[in-house]
Amino acid sequence: MPANILDGKSLARQIRSELREEVIDFIENNVTIPTLAAVLVGDDPASEVYVRNKRRDCEEVGIGSQLHKLPAETTQEELLALIGKLNKDDAVHGILVQLPVPEQIDTDRVLEAISPAKDVDAFHPQNVGRLVQNRPVYLPCTPHGCVQLLKRNNIETSGKHVVVVGRSDIVGKPLSVMLAQRGADATVTLCHSRTADLPSVTRLADILVVAIGRPNFITADMVKPGATVIDVGINRTDDGLVGDVDFAAVSEVAGHITPVPGGVGPLTRVMLLVNTLNAARRLVTSY
Ligand code: NDP
Repeated sequence: MPANILDGKSLARQIRSELREEVIDFIENNVTIPTLAAVLVGDDPASEVYVRNKRRDCEEVGIGSQLHKLPAETTQEELLALIGKLNKDDAVHGILVQLPVPEQIDTDRVLEAISPAKDVDAFHPQNVGRLVQNRPVYLPCTPHGCVQLLKRNNIETSGKHVVVVGRSDIVGKPLSVMLAQRGADATVTLCHSRTADLPSVTRLADILVVAIGRPNFITADMVKPGATVIDVGINRTDDGLVGDVDFAAVSEVAGHITPVPGGVGPLTRVMLLVNTLNAARRLVTSY
């Protein structure tokens, strides 16, 4: 029987409508519009699209957004100066610097310069450390999106074996930490490009999460029958956007599967809005 599709698009729509109510409530009670400042350096077309979408999402739920567009030749000092200004600006609650930044700029220094209180991407070392200690202020957007997809589709993680393929700082590593925490209670295996005999590991997964950036890499023989498969990958190919999972073949084996597009991506976007509202709550009220 083909797998049940985990529809990220409609779940994101539902969360946005919940958020819209919360934002209205917040504005009424605090006479302040939660506001996200997006910083875009250079003119990478993909980054421009990402930022445009993020601003559109903000608008849809009533969150304010600012765009700070800097030329590609911006120096590190100029970018740090802008971040310093946004850190101090009481009208700004969340700051995101769209990555990647041009090569003359040190990404780590930029991410560390963002005030942890306004770090709605949750990339600052302080927020990463808090996540590891299971007392997060903000959760990173893509891993949080994956967790919400599981939770809101009633897919149990407690006692399950989760295999995460890909150990990046923005997806695989934080997700593996989140699912191993008390509360989620999964047994987690984190795989990467040096994992020996990867198929023998992925076949053990009750829940398989793949975030590697290799089109259609996970084939049906790598998946345990009935497993839940979360495909984080977004790959631009001649056939359009595809994930890291061979969707057609794996759907025949898996119990649940996310499509690409329309799976994790929409949840990632909505989690940025969740973090921005939380940032405003923390900065404006004693929440
Ligand atoms: P990175 O390139 O930062 O990391 C890729 C990871 O995959 C690395 O840990 C790498 O291992 C591992 N890897 C690569 N090849 C293999 C292989 N053959 N076998 C096992 N592991 C492998 O990627 P990101 O985490 O930033 O992104 C991953 C994918 O997710 C991309 O397609 C990206 O576009 C997408 N993405 C989607 C988002 C969404 O909202 N849906 C958000 C963010 C990313 P090693 O460490 O050993 O090099």
